[in-house]
Order: sequence, then C-alpha cells, then structure tokens
Amino acid sequence: MKKIIVFNWKMNPEKEIEAQKLAQAVEKSKTSQFEVIICPPFVYLESLIKKFKNLKFGAQNCFWEEKGAFTGEISPKMLKNLKVKFVILGHSERRKYLKENEIEIGKKLKAAIKNKLIPIFCLGESLKEREKNLTQKVLKRQLLSLKEIKEIKKPKLLIAYEPVWAIGTGKTCPPEEAVKVILYLKKILNSFFKSKPSLAFLYGGSVNSKNIKEFLKQKEIDGVLVGGASLKEKEISLMLSK
Ligand code: PEP
Repeated sequence: MKKIIVFNWKMNPEKEIEAQKLAQAVEKSKTSQFEVIICPPFVYLESLIKKFKNLKFGAQNCFWEEKGAFTGEISPKMLKNLKVKFVILGHSERRKYLKENEIEIGKKLKAAIKNKLIPIFCLGESLKEREKNLTQKVLKRQLLSLKEIKEIKKPKLLIAYEPVWAIGTGKTCPPEEAVKVILYLKKILNSFFKSKPSLAFLYGGSVNSKNIKEFLKQKEIDGVLVGGASLKEKEISLMLSK
C-alpha cells in the first residue's frame, strides 16, 4: 500500500489564487510514490477539483444531515456531489474551538460514510492529559464516536493520531511513541467492527520536510497528516520528493 500524505490547509490561504498556486506545487512535485490528499477550505474545493483532475481532495468538516434548515452547515451529500473523496472529522481544533463532542463526531462519521466519503478521523490527547498518563483513557473515550459506524458494512476510514501538544507547536511525538499509540488503537479496533473494516493509520503533529521520512518509514504508520508545512511551496516539494 502507498503511504498517504494528507495536507490540511486549515483556514488558509486567504485568496483563491494562492490556493491554486499551492495545488500547483503539489501537482508539480507529486509522484506515484505517495497517495496525496489536499484538504482546502470549502470555498476552494469546487474550482480546485475542476482544475486539478489528477489530485485528490478532502473537506475539513461536514454536517450530519443531508439537507435542510441548518444555517452555515455543509452536508456530506453536497461534498460528494462536488466529487470530494475525503473529509476530516474530529480535528482537535474543532473539538477545542467549536466544542465538538464524541456524539456529534460520531453522527458526522456515519453521515460521511453513508454518503461514500472516506473520513479522516482525528484523535489525540492534550499535554495535560499526556502528563497525567491519560493518553490511552482519552483515546478510548474518543473512539466512542466509532460506535455509530460499528454496524456499517466494511467501513473505510483513515485514523489520524494527532497528539494535541504536537499540533502547530514544532514539537513532534517521537515516531516510536506514535507507533506504540497506533498499535494500541489497532488492538482496540481489531474486534470492534461487525464486518472487516478498511483502516489506515496516520500520524499528525508538526510533520515537515525534515521529519516526514522518520514517520513514513515506520511499518505501523500508513501516512501523515500535515498542517503548517503544507502551506509552503518549498516544503511541499521537499516532502513529496523521494
Ligand atoms: C493538523 O492540522 O492536523 C496538523 C497536524 O497541523 P501541523 O502539521 O501544523 O502541526
């Protein structure tokens, strides 16, 4: 299986033309070695998908209903209709600033899968929780969101272990430690789903051109989720180089 690199642009860049330039940088550097998925803000998805036919795109969120009186929300069906393939759900920034909880994230996961989107489900502990040795307990709680999709036939999803203390801080989790956490997640999920799921496990948190290979060379890590570094053309080309 090819290693996966997800670029999460978060609420960047400010202008469409800059988004086009970043996507161009990905197109230029992309080889068949990796599966690359770009997650831009909603407003750029349609034009990028139309222009960059060889690239894969994901959204950074979606709602759990398909349509209706939900001001400001975007449904998974709308994303699917735009030919979006993936959707990030449960990102720590949404848990923190938008107060998203396990129940809501679970409903989103279910709606996304029902609409044939592949969720990139993020989870991870805060610094305080890590210092108190609560990582496994926190992850177990966050995994409760998956109960919503337990019964779905052969669910397909990417699971991104993103320790909150490593996101946007320049501090990375040592790869061996990330591997241990991923093994723990695999152990829990091993007999969790009713039918055999298709799962890939990513690491996210301050990944850049200098450290990406350390993570990608780990057998247990199927890929990485990159935030800040995915907004710099030079970093994009270095990360995607062999
Ligand atoms: C992220 O957006 O999920 C992320 C990991 O960001 P960064 O790479 O900037 O830490």
